[in-house]
Amino acid sequence: MPLVRTRHGGYNIFVMTNISAQTCQSIAELLEIIGQPARMQILVVLSAQDSCVCHLEAALGLRQAAISQHLALLRRCGLASARRDGRHVYYRLADARALDVLRCAAEMLHLPPETLAPPPMPIPGCPCPFCRPDLAADQACKKSIPQTEKLHV
Ligand SMILES: [Zn+2]
Repeated sequence: MPLVRTRHGGYNIFVMTNISAQTCQSIAELLEIIGQPARMQILVVLSAQDSCVCHLEAALGLRQAAISQHLALLRRCGLASARRDGRHVYYRLADARALDVLRCAAEMLHLPPETLAPPPMPIPGCPCPFCRPDLAADQACKKSIPQTEKLHV
């Protein structure tokens, strides 16, 4: 099939491909979900370990409400999942291919691989059981995090 010249002077490449408008839309939506900065950071943190919301709060320096919203969206599209362990809910990376997308993008930008490294553990000020194994079970995830100790990924 010949290339069709558009009225803008370019070529309509879709005439030559099987890619439908719906496929384009679906891929764009997925990239938009993975490509949002806070969700990108959440995916990177979850790639290192399962995390509770308070760990993600400490890692990203965002409020719980914002983190929860991002997690809900990541869960809806199958990129993250949740499990309950006693009184804690832990989120995990459900589809590691999301990290492959980010790694691929970083490579295209000639960024070093450590660009996507998760924050070093423990995160100062984080009261989660991974960062503060010394805390009693009923105290974990409870302590308020001092603003100055928050770290950004
Ligand atoms: Zn933590």
